[in-house]
Amino acid sequence: MLALHAPQIERNAPIPTWFAIGGAADRLARPASPDELRACLDLDPDLRVLGDGANLLVDDDGIPNLVVALNQPAFTSVTFDGSRVHAGAGANLPKLILESVRRGLAGLEGLGGIPASVGGAAIMNAGGTFGQFADAVHAVHGFDRAGRPVSLARNDIPFDYRRSGLNHLVLTAVELALNPADPAPLRDRLKDVMAYKKRTQPMGEPSAGCVFKNPTVDPDLAERLEHKPADGPRRVSAGMLLDRAGCKGLRAEGGGARISDFHANFVVTEPGARARDVIDLMRRARQRVLDAFGVSLEPEVVIWRRNPTEHLP
Ligand SMILES: Cc1cc2nc3c(=O)[nH]c(=O)nc-3n(C[C@H](O)[C@H](O)[C@H](O)COP(=O)(O)OP(=O)(O)OC[C@H]3O[C@@H](n4cnc5c(N)ncnc54)[C@H](O)[C@@H]3O)c2cc1C
Repeated sequence: MLALHAPQIERNAPIPTWFAIGGAADRLARPASPDELRACLDLDPDLRVLGDGANLLVDDDGIPNLVVALNQPAFTSVTFDGSRVHAGAGANLPKLILESVRRGLAGLEGLGGIPASVGGAAIMNAGGTFGQFADAVHAVHGFDRAGRPVSLARNDIPFDYRRSGLNHLVLTAVELALNPADPAPLRDRLKDVMAYKKRTQPMGEPSAGCVFKNPTVDPDLAERLEHKPADGPRRVSAGMLLDRAGCKGLRAEGGGARISDFHANFVVTEPGARARDVIDLMRRARQRVLDAFGVSLEPEVVIWRRNPTEHLP
């Protein structure tokens, strides 16, 4: 099978990410079929899947693992069957949202303005104030690392806040269950969601969205931070903690990367920035929050690096 379906391998291939910086892949493949994808898994069971690169930082010296981009038609097609949608993992989420809204199908409009592939949105359980991807998922399909096909129904997927528990799989498609709705209010809702995002986040500068997850804190701290009674452990905004710890505007020593003045959980980059600058900033910001509040922030951004034993950030 391997020889018949051998994928073409590009060497020292740039990895496009929304940070617009970072190292290359020693080897990159764009499989044209599920058989080619399985051949990739034969070559490197520890391969990495590149989605839209919107939540990804690649360390400056790149990565040795085979990187697989699911951007060929076999993995990007989308079919609508009533309110059920079958979307390839490489399909573009913003386009899918627009098309669903145009057809009068509700369920994804709360994710307006989130850059992602369908596979990346499922893996990260992308979402925010107006919803999460998991709520629209009916089932996912893909391969395990041994190349065996896997299909999981929604209830068998341990979705949680910005988490799917599916990182051991290579997703090839997602089935979505949407709801018929009147297109006009849906369009308005999508516009409102996108306007909110533009108002509150630095959408015009290269970034990976929020770099840290919103942490769960104990009731006392939640109450102190939010000035309202907390009855149990609660997630609070990492951006708010970073802001109160004085992180806005913090710059990397090498220049090129800084914490946005607009939203303290966004690291934005300028040309010439290095991945190390972003990592350095994340380390410093995290330390400030730890010193100020005793809260250890967990990265949301995925970092690919050559030496996985190195502790980052
Ligand atoms: C301007 C901006 C705003 C953002 N706003 C939000 C927001 O509001 N809410 C939010 O949740 N996120 C936000 N993000 C982050 C990002 O959009 C999401 O995390 C998104 O889900 C990433 O999808 P992706 O396809 O780009 O994945 P990538 O960044 O390419 O990859 C992320 C992870 O998913 C894995 N992966 C991707 N595809 C597959 C697959 N088919 N099979 C297996 N693994 C796969 C990758 O290996 C990697 O581990 C924002 C990012 C930017 C740049």
